[in-house]
Amino acid sequence: MNNNHSAYIGIGSNLNEPIQQVELAFIELQNLTNSSLVKRSTLYRSFPLGSANQPNYINAVARLSTDLSAIELLDKLQAIENKQGRVRTEKWGARTLDLDILLYDNQQIETARLSIPHSGIYERAFVLYPLYECVPDLVLPNGQKIYELLKQFTSTKS
Ligand code: ATP
Ligand code: CA
Ligand code: CA
Repeated sequence: MNNNHSAYIGIGSNLNEPIQQVELAFIELQNLTNSSLVKRSTLYRSFPLGSANQPNYINAVARLSTDLSAIELLDKLQAIENKQGRVRTEKWGARTLDLDILLYDNQQIETARLSIPHSGIYERAFVLYPLYECVPDLVLPNGQKIYELLKQFTSTKS
């Protein structure tokens, strides 16, 4: 087992004790087959996308080294979501656990089941801040630097 690939996972929860859901997800990621959890961010709070009529989220990012392919990893992540009681109803509705593959090596993938980099990576503060915490000098596959992307959220005092 070489754990040759580097993957970043975006974690989110806003139901049934979200902090515990996210901590449980980290344990599941630690135990993931043919993989190791090499880094984790701290926890962030964010407002929901979609309907505002749902609780706020807890978000975090995990860095994995893995031998799994991107699609194998997606299957494993969806199994963890299901294990933690994820029910899919409305788009961006409340959920016990959401696990998104943000990045997989430097690859750009567009298939029916996978978009990598994840489409939310460019404009979601709750993705960019914990990702930045894990790897401040990260450069995305399109050449954008993470600290440049973060500037969209900062303002200067006049
Ligand atoms: P968003 O993707 O905008 O954050 P969401 O996480 O609520 O929304 P889900 O309902 O969890 O969306 O996932 C819908 C589908 O997205 C999944 O079934 C999966 O096939 C697909 N998908 C595409 N790219 C990715 C990715 N990089 N990571 C996880 N799922 C992905
Ligand atoms: Ca998501
Ligand atoms: Ca998802």
